[in-house]
Amino acid sequence: MIYLDNAATTRPCEEAVKAAMAALTEDFGNPSSRHFAGTQAEKILTDARDTIAKALGAEEKCIFFTSGATESNNWAIRGAAENRIKRKPKVVTTTVEHPSVKEAVKALEKLGAEIVWVSPDENGEITAESIVNAVDDKTCLVSCMLVNNETGYVLPVAESFAAIKRRYPDCITHCDAVQGFMKLPIKVNALCADLISVSGHKVYAPKGVGALYIKKGVNITTFMQGGGQEGGKRSGTENIPAIAGFAAAVKKLSGSIDQRYENACALRDTLYNSIADDIVINSKAGALPYICSIAMVGYKSETLLNFMSERGICVSSGSACSKGRKSSVLKAFGIPDNVADSTLRVSFSCDTTPQEVEQFAKALEQARALASTGNKRK
Ligand code: PMP
Repeated sequence: MIYLDNAATTRPCEEAVKAAMAALTEDFGNPSSRHFAGTQAEKILTDARDTIAKALGAEEKCIFFTSGATESNNWAIRGAAENRIKRKPKVVTTTVEHPSVKEAVKALEKLGAEIVWVSPDENGEITAESIVNAVDDKTCLVSCMLVNNETGYVLPVAESFAAIKRRYPDCITHCDAVQGFMKLPIKVNALCADLISVSGHKVYAPKGVGALYIKKGVNITTFMQGGGQEGGKRSGTENIPAIAGFAAAVKKLSGSIDQRYENACALRDTLYNSIADDIVINSKAGALPYICSIAMVGYKSETLLNFMSERGICVSSGSACSKGRKSSVLKAFGIPDNVADSTLRVSFSCDTTPQEVEQFAKALEQARALASTGNKRK
C-alpha cells in the first residue's frame, strides 16, 4: 500500500499502539476508581494531559480530552456562544472551515445568532484584515481554522486573533488547529486563542480521541453532563487507551517539527516535479507542505481515486469527510468547477518516501494513458 491520505487519518505509530495496548490490557482501571488500578489509570491520564499541554505551551488544567476534533469544535462553538449571543449576537467564521465548525456555527442561528462568513478574496487569500474587519463589538465568537484540510492553506490566525483581542478583549477566539497540530509550532499564547481543537488520529494516534484547550478564566458551557470527569466540564469515563496512544504519539513528534516540515517540503517538491506540466496545482505557495491539492483537468476525481485504489495507492478527492460530495471549500478558494471535479488531495506522513510519491505521479500518467486508449477505441 502507498498511503498518501494522511490528512484524512494516519497510521498509528508503534509507540501509540504500545501505549494503547498497555492501557487496554494492563492498566484498564477506571481513573475515577479509588483503588490502585484506578490510580494507575489516573496517572496515565495526568501524564497524557501534561504531554498535550506541553506540546501546545499550555497549562495542564487547560486541556480537556474529547472524542476527537468534531466534538472539540462543537463544544467550543456552542459552549462559547450559548451564553453570550443574547448580549452579542454575532459569530464570525470562514467559508473554508471543516464541516464540524460550519455546521456547529449554522446551528447557532436557531439560537438567534447572526453568522458573518469571511470568504477568500479574488486571489484565493484570506487576509487577517478581512477577519478582523468582520468582527465588531457585537461579536461574541470568532472561529478560524489554522490549516485548511483540503488545500493546506495556512490562515492568518495569530495575526487576526491578536488584533481582535486588542480591540475586543471579550470576543472569544477559537481555532480548529487539527491539520497544523504537531506540524507547525503552535503555542497558545502566540496564537491568541481562547479555545483550540486538536485531534489524535491526524498525528499517528488512535481514532476517537482529541482535546480542547480552554484558556484559564474563559467560561464555556458544559457539553456532556454526567459524572463530572475532566474537571466537571466533559463527563464520561475517559478513553484511556486512546488518550495514552495520543500522548505517546505527541511525545514522539515533539522536538522534530522543523525537521519533519523540511521533509514534507522535499516530498511536495518531488510531487510537483514528477507530475506533468498540465496538472493544476490548487495549493498555493505558502501552503502547509503536507497537503497538496492537484487536478488533472478532464479526469474525474472519483475515477482517478478508484484507479489509484485498485493499484494500492490511497489518495483523496477533496476531503474524506465530504464523501464524494462537491467541495464547497474548493469553490470558496476560487477553484473553477471543472478543476474541482478533477481534484485529488495528496497528503504526506513522516514515513512517506519520495519513491512513493514518484509512483503516485507515474500512476497518474498511467490513468491518463488508459483513458486516452479507451477514448480511441470508442
Ligand atoms: N477539523 C479539521 C480541519 C479536520 O481536518 C478534521 C478531520 N477531517 C476535523 C476537524 C475532525 O476531526 P475528528 O476526525 O477528530 O473528529
